[in-house]
Amino acid sequence: MKIAIPKERREHEARVAASPDTVKKLLGLSLDSVEVVVESGAGDGAAMTNDAFKAAGASIAKDYAETVKDADVVLKVRRPITSDEGGKTDELAGLKKGCKLIALMDPWQATEGIGALAGAGVDAFSMEFMPRITRAQAMDVLSSQANLAGYRAVIDAAAQFRRAFPMMMTAAGTVPPAKALIMGAGVAGLQAIATARRLGAVVSATDVRPAAKEQVESLGASFVAVEDEEFKEAEAAGGYAKEMSEAYRKKQAELIAETITKMDLVVTTALIPGKPAPKLVTADMVKSMKPGSILVDLAVTQGGNVELSEPDKVVEHGGVTIIGHTNWPSRIAVSASQMYARNLLNFLQLMVDKENKTLTVDMEDEIMKATCLTREGKVVHPNLEGVSA
Ligand code: NAD
Repeated sequence: MKIAIPKERREHEARVAASPDTVKKLLGLSLDSVEVVVESGAGDGAAMTNDAFKAAGASIAKDYAETVKDADVVLKVRRPITSDEGGKTDELAGLKKGCKLIALMDPWQATEGIGALAGAGVDAFSMEFMPRITRAQAMDVLSSQANLAGYRAVIDAAAQFRRAFPMMMTAAGTVPPAKALIMGAGVAGLQAIATARRLGAVVSATDVRPAAKEQVESLGASFVAVEDEEFKEAEAAGGYAKEMSEAYRKKQAELIAETITKMDLVVTTALIPGKPAPKLVTADMVKSMKPGSILVDLAVTQGGNVELSEPDKVVEHGGVTIIGHTNWPSRIAVSASQMYARNLLNFLQLMVDKENKTLTVDMEDEIMKATCLTREGKVVHPNLEGVSA
């Protein structure tokens, strides 16, 4: 049984899908003669050297083709890039038919790419579709990566901020604490709140789900939201938010417009699965902010919560800095890779048939059903009806 870990080739991607720690555990799985092959340099962006992988028991392959050749399992961070998408190496070309490919597949936005996975005959699993159930928590990459993204967003903002975060009372005078507003209090937002608080900021946060209120307050932040009848019903299946009505959005915008003028730091993380990110901060609101304040838009890849944010750019408007990095976990690649690698190991363990020492995909299992995108040359996921090879 060959398990392959290629180097990631997409832009701004420093993570790797295995760590020396998980390589040891992969080699210990109850599978017939397991071999783990890591592409040379795959861990460079995450400070995991070829030597460290070798010491853990992996063999090092010189290039992509050699890494994935005859592999039964391919562990990746991102969906394979094809030459149609501008990849120098067509990462789909060398994959064995029927191999299990586990990665972040970008299933909502990259439907053509998903069709190509079916065309290549691989069994692809999308880690984004992991159900939010207790049994799947250890495999939940959206949570493990969003947690680090929320942390890193505040750290990057603090580095750009030309004032101090905590209150400082000195002989030379008092520096007031920075005021931070976190918009969207899911996994990333809650960690952003905790990080800004640790740095000494006075934090408030907003969300459309009522459950968020208690979580925000338990972290010592104040909750700012339009708490009307619609708000009480805003939580959809899986703990995700619903798209709000026009009327709610108007009331929310008025509240934000009033709050944002007092802020030094605003981090936006609001998402709705399968939909463009809600626009929460308009150009006029940016204009109303204090010069020197910082806005971080974590939703920029999904269209952005901030009207003026630009993907992969740090821009300035009227003295307000807007940070629009698209891949936050990659900016903290060592920790993100360690956690991501653990999530993938836990997921692969579900497929291990200990008795026969093989891998089997039980499509009756809720986790497999939710994550499997393609099988036997077809797109099988219910969310992707109409997408074909
Ligand atoms: P997400 O990334 O989809 O969205 C981020 C946040 O944005 C959410 O809190 C959402 O309510 C909020 N949001 C959406 N539209 C908004 C708007 N117009 N204005 C303000 N905020 C808006 O969400 P997530 O971080 O993946 O987490 C969603 C929920 O799932 C959370 O309650 C989280 O605790 C829960 N969760 C549960 C498990 C589990 O295993 N049970 C695992 C992870 C997360």
